[in-house]
Amino acid sequence: MTRIVCKFGGSSVADAEQFKKIKSILQGNLERKIVVVSAPGKRNPQESKLTDLFYSTHDLATKKLDFAAPWKLIRERYIEITQELSLQSSIREEFDKLEEDLLKNSEKLSVDFLVSRGEYLCAKIMADFLGAKFIDAYPLIQFDNQYNVTPESYENIATALSDKNTIYVVPGFYGSDMQGKLKTFTRGGSDITGSILANACNCSVYENWTDVSGLLMADPRIVKDAHTISYVSYREIRELAYSGANVLHDDSITPCRAKNIPINIKNTNKPGDQGTIIGPTPETTSRVITGIAGRKDFSMLYIEKSMMNKEKGFGRKVLAILEEQGVSYELSPCGIDSMNVIVDSKTLQNVEKEVRKEIDQKMQPNKIKIFNNLALIATVGHGMVSQVGTAARLFSALAKDNINVRIIDQGSSEINIIVGIDEANFEKAITAIYKEFVD
Ligand code: ASP
Repeated sequence: MTRIVCKFGGSSVADAEQFKKIKSILQGNLERKIVVVSAPGKRNPQESKLTDLFYSTHDLATKKLDFAAPWKLIRERYIEITQELSLQSSIREEFDKLEEDLLKNSEKLSVDFLVSRGEYLCAKIMADFLGAKFIDAYPLIQFDNQYNVTPESYENIATALSDKNTIYVVPGFYGSDMQGKLKTFTRGGSDITGSILANACNCSVYENWTDVSGLLMADPRIVKDAHTISYVSYREIRELAYSGANVLHDDSITPCRAKNIPINIKNTNKPGDQGTIIGPTPETTSRVITGIAGRKDFSMLYIEKSMMNKEKGFGRKVLAILEEQGVSYELSPCGIDSMNVIVDSKTLQNVEKEVRKEIDQKMQPNKIKIFNNLALIATVGHGMVSQVGTAARLFSALAKDNINVRIIDQGSSEINIIVGIDEANFEKAITAIYKEFVD
């Protein structure tokens, strides 16, 4: 029998009702044998995620300040869940012990350890409720000194989760480092845990359960009623995520991609919806684009120098100056005698003086200018490769709405076209592109 990993995000484990939905989702498909959970999230927009409350608690405790307020909210939520599920749990004792450590030994209690309790306790309660086997992620997932997950981790997982008839519950978001200290992934890291488990156990699908029925073709705050993407390739999702689409954790695609395991984004509150499948191959439809995403807060560094094209290593040296100042770049469209480098505005602002000085001294340009308040918008889709006139349609749509395009970049992969525009036109541009290709 093949198995499915199901990762449930914070909103899917926010209260006892959500736990019950999860039980029925698992009963709906007996291949759903491996469960990964986040820490409980918000039940309504006014609440905080428990992970955030754990961070505040740790911060206050280490400063020897009163941490009672966030701590009470955390504690009450877990107790409420166990009570409503009628579980005989040892949750109160777990909290008493943690509280004692916070009061007496807060300096020894690492922030990663405390915050990881969000996932740990949630997984314990979930295992109890499902009658499943709890497996801690701490000894299984190991990070090397570069913060990469070691190959041995995959073997550890395969061994620990080897029985195909058992339902396992594993806390997401953390593992341990080479020194044996508990270490979390970056925020949203339970997505990565799920993907690693799917790879290690050769699962048929990685289901990522959340509170929306898949990814949308554009940000719904900008395009109301944006369509759901039914299928998107790993490559497309990388482009969309990089360009600002709010999807899975960036690092969660790679482990599944390595074994061509599809990722299915599904809605815990509407389990019948198909959701979005992220898979290895491009979709075979006549659809030209798969999605549109964008980000604001970019600056363009413009450098002009006559005969630049004859000067060997000009581009490399400029990029090296930026690298030395800790600025990474997004795009670098060039003319014959000019070079543009698009960078994150905030990072550049911090070192602008030094960058200008270094470029002046080392490159002797005729002109350097910095243009701020730029937005980059990526239009992504495998369908563009074979369609003549896609770029023309995109630019006419922007022109029709009087939007001036400052930067153009078509990746050599031909699955995306990036345009740089004034931030003020951001929403208008996304709407215009969407209307042209989708509506
Ligand atoms: N609870 C963690 C966070 O909020 C990890 C996760 O949910 O994936 O970032």
